[in-house]
Amino acid sequence: MKVHYKNGIHIEFNDGKRLLVDPLAVPKYNPDLILLTHAHADHAKGIKDIDDLDEFDMVMSEQTYGIKNRSIKHLRRILYPPIKRNGFTVTAYPSGHCLGSVQFKVNYDDKDIIFTGDFNVNGTLLEPKPQQLQGDILVTEANFGHPFFTFKPRFSVLGDIVDWVTKYKDKIKIMFMTGLGKAQELTQLFTQSELDQEIWVHSWYWYNNKIFEKYGGRLGRYEKLDKYSDISEGSIVIHPPLDRVDHFHGSKKEMRSMLDLDTDPMIAYVSGWAKWYHHEGAFPLSSHSDYVELMRYAVKSKARKIYTFHGFAERLANDLRERFGLETTHLTTDNYPDFITDLDGRMDQIKRARQLH
Ligand SMILES: [Zn+2]
Ligand SMILES: [Zn+2]
Repeated sequence: MKVHYKNGIHIEFNDGKRLLVDPLAVPKYNPDLILLTHAHADHAKGIKDIDDLDEFDMVMSEQTYGIKNRSIKHLRRILYPPIKRNGFTVTAYPSGHCLGSVQFKVNYDDKDIIFTGDFNVNGTLLEPKPQQLQGDILVTEANFGHPFFTFKPRFSVLGDIVDWVTKYKDKIKIMFMTGLGKAQELTQLFTQSELDQEIWVHSWYWYNNKIFEKYGGRLGRYEKLDKYSDISEGSIVIHPPLDRVDHFHGSKKEMRSMLDLDTDPMIAYVSGWAKWYHHEGAFPLSSHSDYVELMRYAVKSKARKIYTFHGFAERLANDLRERFGLETTHLTTDNYPDFITDLDGRMDQIKRARQLH
C-alpha cells in the first residue's frame, strides 16, 4: 500500500485500487472512492471542481453536504456513511472538530485504515467527544503536533472568555475566530451566559450558524452583522480574522476605522494559534487535539503504521517513532504554509509587527 499527499491524501492499494481523502483539486487519475472528512477549505477546496466533472463517488456526512451543497450539484454522487462501495466498507465517527466533521474507518482487503481528518479528543460545547478508533493503519492530522501546543482544559478557556467579555461589558468587543466550528460554539456560549450584551455574527459566518440550527443545534438569540454602523456600544462581534500575521497589533486601529468609532474596540483572538501571544484577549481555544492528545490517540490506535499530515507532521512522526518505537511517516503537504511550523520565524514576525505599531 502506498500513501502520499498531493492536494489531498492518496492511497494506492497493492491491487491498484485507489482512494482519495480530502481533495484540494481534481485528481489526475480516477479514484475508486473519494472521502471528505469535513467542510474546512484546507480539506475540501477541490469538492466543487470534482463535482462539476460528475464522475466520482464522494462520501461525506449529511451535515458536511448541508454546508457544501451550495457548490455541489450532482447529489446522486454523494454517499452518506456507512457505505459499501467498490470493495470498500466505510464507517464514519464524529471527530469533535466542527459541524459534520468525521473520522473515517475504511476496511479494504481485510485491513482497517483510520483517517482522523481534523479531530479534537475533547469535543466542544457543541460536538461530542470523538471515539478512540483502532486499526491497522492510522492517517492522522498533526496540526498541533508540537509540545509548545499543550492547551488548558476547554472549560477553563471558555470561562476566561466569559470573564473577559464581562470585564469589558461597556465596550465593543471584536473577536476573531474561524467561521465553522468556533463561531457556532462561541455564539452559543454567549447566548447562554446571560450577559445582557448584543451578539453580532459576521455575515460570512451567519450561513454556518443557520446550517447548524437546521440540523437541530440551538444557538439562541443573535444578530446578523451586515453593516458595522448597526453595532452599538457593549456589543460582542463574532468576526473573521483580519489577514495578517499578528492579530492584535494594528487591529484595534483598523477595526476602529472600519466601524467608524471614536474609541478603540477591544480585540480578542480565539484559536489554538493564540498560544503564540501573551496578549490580553488571546484565547487558545482549539478545535484540534493538542500535542499530548495527538500522541496518545496515535499510540492507542494500535496501528502498525502511522502517517501524519498538516502542521507539525514531521515533529509528531519523529516523536512517535523515538518515544514509542512506532513506524511513522510524515506526509509532506506542499501547499501548507511554511510559516505555521516555523516556530522561531513566527515569533520574530510577531515581534517585528509589534515594533511597527
Ligand atoms: Zn478543520
Ligand atoms: Zn485542517
